[in-house]
Amino acid sequence: MLLVSDFPEWFLVTTAVSLGLVFGSFLNVVIYRLPRGENVAFPGSRCPACGSPIRGYDNVPVLSFILLRGRARCCRARISIRYPLVELAGGLFAWSLLDLLLLDRAGDTPFGIGAALFAAYLALGLGLIAAAFIDVEHMVLPDEITMGGALLGVVTAPLRSDLAAVASAPWAGTLAPLGAAAVAWGDSVFGALVGFLGIWLPFDLLYRHLRGRTGMAQGDAKLVMLAGAWFGWPGALFALVAGAVQGTLGSAALLLTRGRIEEPPAVREERAALRAAIEAADGEERAALQAELDGDPLGTEPDPGALQTRIPFGPFLVLAILEYLFFGPALVARYLDWALP
Ligand SMILES: [Zn+2]
Repeated sequence: MLLVSDFPEWFLVTTAVSLGLVFGSFLNVVIYRLPRGENVAFPGSRCPACGSPIRGYDNVPVLSFILLRGRARCCRARISIRYPLVELAGGLFAWSLLDLLLLDRAGDTPFGIGAALFAAYLALGLGLIAAAFIDVEHMVLPDEITMGGALLGVVTAPLRSDLAAVASAPWAGTLAPLGAAAVAWGDSVFGALVGFLGIWLPFDLLYRHLRGRTGMAQGDAKLVMLAGAWFGWPGALFALVAGAVQGTLGSAALLLTRGRIEEPPAVREERAALRAAIEAADGEERAALQAELDGDPLGTEPDPGALQTRIPFGPFLVLAILEYLFFGPALVARYLDWALP
């Protein structure tokens, strides 16, 4: 049987990091197109400034940005630093994942299982990175990522829990670092249910009844459900608590350094575009568009005053979920040691 250790470490690292960089480059397309309702696969990459197609040799992750000194070849427009940063995040995440799942383990993982495991967690991490950036820019967490990611967590739980069940296998050393991160299928479904019933549903009902519209917390609740699907109810609880603490600290830091938190420009533009469409339409179409605006939690300007500021919660939740993936089991063990001496 082909084992992960049959391959030299430099080969595994190079392959993983290259995959992470290339998918990170694709993430930039996802971050731009998904919230705008465009197809993420076609057409190929285009310059965000002038729309010219980008050639393959100008689309090499990170390297092209450095060689072109941060400007597009077609029209010399400035390229946002976000592009190479997202690519780097993809590469770094893939490397950390390889280290967590497969490298430096006492035993050997069969290559097929290792590759499937790596692919599943890579998809999770890339989806979370995309969700964080989309939320910062548009204050929206797309269902494709939150619901799709939760589904992936439930579907891959048997693969991940099989690993836990065969902890006595010779390559069981691979499992130790995963700890709580490897959950049984039942725990995965239960964790997702806790996220759904305990957070999403109450938030949704509350907002509908109090405000007459669905809450903007809905996407955040779905993200907590995703954490439950991947890591069981302790993962959902950790994401919620750590996310809230980090969100509070983050908002406080932003308020202290900037004085106030501005709404992202894209949110203002989307609201303005919808209002313009309402002005231009009439009859049934106008009523339908007006209903869309009324039902949109971002449909009105934020109330003035720092404490009413809208701040995306998604990035803080994403951070908490990634923390749980890499450090969760160790953190929980430390906490239990301290709380239950
Ligand atoms: Zn251009």
